[in-house]
Amino acid sequence: MAAKISKTEQGLQVPDRPVIPFVIGDGIGPDIWHSAVRVFDAGVEKAYGGQRKVEWKEILAGQKAFDETGEWLPIESIDAMKEYIVSIKGPLTTPVGGGIRSLNVAIRQELDLYACVRPIEWFKGVPSPVKHPEKTDMMLFRENTEDIYAGIEFMGDSLEAKKIRDFLANELKVAYSFEFNPSIGIKPVSEEGSKRLIRAAIEYALKNKKTSLALVHKGNIMKFTEGAFKNWGYELVEEEYSDRAYTWGQWEKTKAEFNEEKANEELEEASKAGKLIVTDVIADNFLQQILLNPQNYSVIATLNLNGDYISDALAAIVGGIGIAPGGNINYKTGHAVFEATHGTAPRFANTNTMNPSSVILSGVMMFEYLGWIEAAALIKSSVAATIQSKKVTIDFYNQMDDATLLKTSEFADEIVRHI
Ligand code: NAD
Repeated sequence: MAAKISKTEQGLQVPDRPVIPFVIGDGIGPDIWHSAVRVFDAGVEKAYGGQRKVEWKEILAGQKAFDETGEWLPIESIDAMKEYIVSIKGPLTTPVGGGIRSLNVAIRQELDLYACVRPIEWFKGVPSPVKHPEKTDMMLFRENTEDIYAGIEFMGDSLEAKKIRDFLANELKVAYSFEFNPSIGIKPVSEEGSKRLIRAAIEYALKNKKTSLALVHKGNIMKFTEGAFKNWGYELVEEEYSDRAYTWGQWEKTKAEFNEEKANEELEEASKAGKLIVTDVIADNFLQQILLNPQNYSVIATLNLNGDYISDALAAIVGGIGIAPGGNINYKTGHAVFEATHGTAPRFANTNTMNPSSVILSGVMMFEYLGWIEAAALIKSSVAATIQSKKVTIDFYNQMDDATLLKTSEFADEIVRHI
């Protein structure tokens, strides 16, 4: 019988027939969803021989919701995402004008989905702009609720901006000339918000036996937001994970207290003992490192805006947004919404031409999250086999030699055949 997923002290409790809400999405959403869901059902059926099955429950958001209910994000949909714990969604149009900034941001905020998790992995045969895309294999944890994404900003000519400028100049005596009446944006970054995100990245790294984790930040310029993110990260490791991880912060301390040789010895010992090595890197340097030395990076934890730029740059290296999955997760409550990272590509709506891989691989992440790892592995290897057979959608076809061009639904048929 269909039942709800729940979250207890012991973790996520997943029945054999879980109800999972889905948002079909706008633009190319319906095309890629209809293809993806066939792949999901085939993977689960093959992996568990009918013992397990997802009961899909459609919920409304975006243009479809607006057309049917007059609301872009009905409260019933948010309630369902809360009640059923885990959901999956297609891309949503951002309504132009009106009070809503972005439906995606609203969903993340409503469910406090503080970690945006994006695996960056190259599948053999996928066209790439770099010579060795196989060297890029990372798991990105992007903070999802703070930073300038909080949406606290005011136009330069507004009364609010003037009040803030006056407060900064007169009360806080900041040494900045506001003579051009600039717009003002606020960048909140908290210890709790940073640590819960970095903790998720550390837990992932330890569980998956990764050897390094990098905190990516711009702390050289923004010391008390981005710099604090780094410091809180090191603090967290030293407080909670010192038996299993070693930081560059510790290395610096030993160097200052003793000398570099001793610090290097300590680092080597930690590596030999199989500890996770936690480092940090300035965001601009990181963006060149992912082109020059991507093999040096594995698990990444970063703030919201950095994470936005970095995830698209990394996605481009391994084949573009047509194959980039993602999940938005609150590890405490268990709430999770999985979604392709691309948008609605409205020009291609109902053409049945776009690549459904990103939503299919988001489903793979979802099944892994549910602990249905057999279904996840089957689906993932079938996507890989289909791409290797050079039967692909237009985005890959245009860049591959001797490939066969498939429609979205035909590409899904091929994946199902490989399952
Ligand atoms: P987009 O990601 O929709 O499309 C940009 C281009 O990427 C497309 O023209 C297409 O060439 C390519 N592309 C996208 N998805 C693809 C796929 N599955 N297969 C192959 N190629 C693909 O970006 P946009 O045009 O800037 O945004 C359109 C709308 O989507 C906007 O309303 C935006 O707000 C929204 N959006 C939603 C999400 C989301 O729901 N998570 C994310 C980003 C943008």
